[in-house]
Amino acid sequence: MSDLSPPPVARRVAVVGAGPAGLYAAEELIRQGRHDVRVDVLDRLPAPYGLVRYGVAPDHPRIKSITGSLRKVLDDPRVAFHGGVELGTDVTRSELLDHYDAVVYAAGAAGDRRLGIPGEDLAGSCSARAFVSWYSGHPDAPAPLPLDMERLAVVGAGNVALDVARVLARPVADLERTDMPEPVLAALRASAVREIVVLARRGPQHARFTPKELRELGGLDGVDVIVDPRQLVLPEGAEPDRSTKANLRALAELAAAPLRGAPRRIELRFHARPRRVLGEHRVAGLMTERTHDGPDGASVGTGELDTLRVGAVLRAVGYRGLPLDTVPFDETRGVVPNDRGRVLDAKGALCPGEYVTGWLKRGPSGVIGTNKLDSAETVALLVDDLDRLPDRRLLDLEAMLIRRGVRPVGLSGWARIDSAERELGASRGRDRTKIADWPTLTRIGRSPHLVPAEPEELPWPS
Ligand code: NAP
Repeated sequence: MSDLSPPPVARRVAVVGAGPAGLYAAEELIRQGRHDVRVDVLDRLPAPYGLVRYGVAPDHPRIKSITGSLRKVLDDPRVAFHGGVELGTDVTRSELLDHYDAVVYAAGAAGDRRLGIPGEDLAGSCSARAFVSWYSGHPDAPAPLPLDMERLAVVGAGNVALDVARVLARPVADLERTDMPEPVLAALRASAVREIVVLARRGPQHARFTPKELRELGGLDGVDVIVDPRQLVLPEGAEPDRSTKANLRALAELAAAPLRGAPRRIELRFHARPRRVLGEHRVAGLMTERTHDGPDGASVGTGELDTLRVGAVLRAVGYRGLPLDTVPFDETRGVVPNDRGRVLDAKGALCPGEYVTGWLKRGPSGVIGTNKLDSAETVALLVDDLDRLPDRRLLDLEAMLIRRGVRPVGLSGWARIDSAERELGASRGRDRTKIADWPTLTRIGRSPHLVPAEPEELPWPS
C-alpha cells in the first residue's frame, strides 16, 4: 500500500440476536486480526443474553454467570448493542443487506416442536418453552398455566423436562434466592402441584438427560424421585456408550434411593408415548401407549394404552427455529439452510453476505458453550468472504430507524435496566429480580433522564 492510499474502511457486520450464539459471533469478529470490523448487535428485546437470560433455569446461577463474559463482548468499543429492534418489523432483510457488509442471523429457536396428537392445544397443555419463558420473566410470556392441579405430566426426556419438573417440585424458598419475578414466585407458592410425571417415549439408554441434572433431582429437599428399577433393564445385546452408562448409573442411584414420604414427587417413566391429550375444555388426562425400542432405537408402540389423570401437560419435546422476515428457511428442520454457516437459498445457492449461527443454524441442541465453536466456524467463513468483498458505500441504519420512529435501547439503556433489576432484587435480599414487562423495560431502557446520556446513546457510528 502506498502512503497515499486511503486507510482501509472498517467492515460493518450486523448480528441479529444478542444471545450466546450472536455474542460469540461478535467476539470472534473483533478477535480475528484480518479486518477492522464494527459489529452492530440487534435484538428484538431491550435486554441482551437471549437463552442465558430467558432459558437457563434461574436456579442454575453458575451457568447464568456466563453473562459476565458476554458482557465483555458488548463493552468492546467495536461492538454496539441495539435492543428493541426487530428484523421484519423495524428493519427488513434487504435493508440490513444495504447497510452492512455482512449479516449474521443468530435468533435462536423461539418456537416449539409439536407432538402432533389430538388435544395438544387444549387449555392446560403448553410448551415447556412457554413455561420456562414465564418463570424466566420474558416480557412476551404470560403465565401459561394455572397451577391448580395436583398432578401434571411433562413429555420429553431432555434437560428442559428436568428443569421444569425441578422448578415445579422444589421448595419455593430455594427459588426465592433467584431472579424470578415476584408474580412467578407467588404463583409457585400457591401451586397445588404435588406430583410430576416425566414421560420418555423410549428406554433409559436413549434419554437425553445428563447425569449432573439427574443427580440434582435426587438432592432436592422435600422431593421424592421415583424411578422403577425394572424400567432400567436394557434389552439383550445393548452396548451403551460411556455417556449413556453415566446416565444409567445416575438413574440407578435415583431408583435405589429410599422414598422419604416427601411432600412432592417426580416420577421418571420410560417407554410411554403420548397418544392423546384428554379433556373437553381443559386438560383432564393424557393417554399414553407403552412402547419398546426397535432394533434401530426407534420407539415402537405395543398397542397397550394407559390413562394418566393429570390436570396439565407440559411438552418438553424440543425448541424450534422460526422464520425471519424473508430469510431462507427450512420448514422441516426449523433452521436457516446453510453450508457451515453460509446461508443457502431454496435451490442451494449461496446468499452472499448472509450467515447463520447457533440453534437457527444447527437446530436446538448442545450446551451454551457449543455455540462458541459454532460461531467460530461461521465467522471464519465470513472473514474469508470479506477478503474478496470490494469496499462499498453503506447506508446509515440509525438514520433510517429514526425516520421510522424506532428508538433502539443501547448499552447504556441496558445498563439502566440491569441496575434497576439489581436494585429491585436488593430490596428483597436477592442479587436481582427480573423486570418482566415491556412498558417498564422500554421506559427504563429508553429514558435519557434517569442517568446522564452516555456515548452509546448518540447516533450509531457511520
Ligand atoms: P432434547 O434434549 O432434544 O430432548 C427432547 C426430548 O423430547 C427427547 O427425549 C425426545 O425423545 C423427546 N421427544 C421429541 N419428540 C417427541 C414426541 N413427539 N413425543 C415424545 N417425546 C418426544 O431437547 P431439550 O430438553 O429441549 O433441550 C435442548 C438442548 O438444551 C439440549 O441440548 C439440552 O441438553 C440443552 N439444555 C441443557 C441444560 C443444562 O445443561 N442444564 C438445561 C436445559 C437444556 P427422542 O430422543 O425419542 O426423540
